[in-house]
Amino acid sequence: MENKKEIIVTGDRPTGRLHLGHYVGSLRKRVELQDDPRYKQYVFIADCQALTDNARNPEKIRQNLIEVALDYLSVGIDPTKTTIFVQSQIPELTELTFYYMNLVTLGRLQRNPTIKTEIKEKNFDGGIPTGFMTYPISQAADITAFGAKYVPVGEDQEPLLEQTREIVRTFNSIYGDILVEPRAILSADGVCRRLPGIDGSEKMGKSLGNAIYLADEPSVIKKQINNMFTDPLHLRVEDPGHLEGNIPFIYLTAFATPEHFTKYLPAYANLDEMKAHYTRGGLGDGTVKKFLNDVLNDVLTPIRERRKKYEQNIDFVYDMLEKGSREARAIATDTLKRVRRAMGLEYFEDTGLRNEYKSKYTNKK
Ligand code: ATP
Ligand code: MG
Repeated sequence: MENKKEIIVTGDRPTGRLHLGHYVGSLRKRVELQDDPRYKQYVFIADCQALTDNARNPEKIRQNLIEVALDYLSVGIDPTKTTIFVQSQIPELTELTFYYMNLVTLGRLQRNPTIKTEIKEKNFDGGIPTGFMTYPISQAADITAFGAKYVPVGEDQEPLLEQTREIVRTFNSIYGDILVEPRAILSADGVCRRLPGIDGSEKMGKSLGNAIYLADEPSVIKKQINNMFTDPLHLRVEDPGHLEGNIPFIYLTAFATPEHFTKYLPAYANLDEMKAHYTRGGLGDGTVKKFLNDVLNDVLTPIRERRKKYEQNIDFVYDMLEKGSREARAIATDTLKRVRRAMGLEYFEDTGLRNEYKSKYTNKK
């Protein structure tokens, strides 16, 4: 008997190129999981979701579709192991969303902490689009269409995943046990669950203009590191330094490994030793920033090089997305069929109701 694999699904909005936050919050885990024989992974570009707050700027979404696909390939997501698809090419997801909408109240959507934060960030002038308010419901469709059990995401997605879980429970209690309840896989390290922006704001986000992108050139990265906020009380090298809100140290927590110390800063065995020296006094911000620059180059150089290779083969990227979308659609179609059957909407395939009516009205005087 064939061993049934557990399903993993995640997606990214094509609102810009992918950044370091994506890498530590989700991409790194996906690359690891695609090699685990226990799982089958689907990764998608959420263009429909991106339109919920960019409806008047469709060109932005269109342009970023291939950028995100290139970023996937550049970090090592392998289309022979992971199915990569485009959300808008699976219309079945829209129909699922429409049915799930009936299971969620407006009040529940308004109370979602992620939605609340994003509404504040996005400053919708002219009002909040209905599609934006309901995108957590469409996420439930994206996840359940594939029967996903695991979703490797950053912390901002937790309340959205909870919404999906609620929809699954409600659906199953009304219509029967059809949908799979998913769980988030969060990075073990707190910093990686929500990497702050280079400006020190709570989250690095591609719509927030505070990101280091995976494809950024070394000169750009160096400039951004030099501009990073450290500790305003750390005026002279000898002064004791503070780590709280110190952006280079936060990034080192997410990226630096003991191997990086051996290679670039052998005076310390690991980050704890380096932090202790900084706190005590005697370690300058220049040294910290130079080390961070070395670490990020070490992580990003192979990614940038792989990207350049795929940039020369755009046909490969298109073919991959088309093939992946076809594969994904077949699975979503099957789920939708089961959902419609469970909801009693298969009037013509299901002869039960027809026969009920026949016996109700035949032999009646
Ligand atoms: P946008 O600003 O358009 O919403 P984004 O940068 O938030 O873009 P998304 O496409 O919304 O990116 O998110 C894709 C995935 O990356 C999600 O799983 C999200 O949790 C994760 N992610 C995004 N930003 C970060 C971050 N700063 N730290 C950790 N994970 C992140
Ligand atoms: Mg986001």
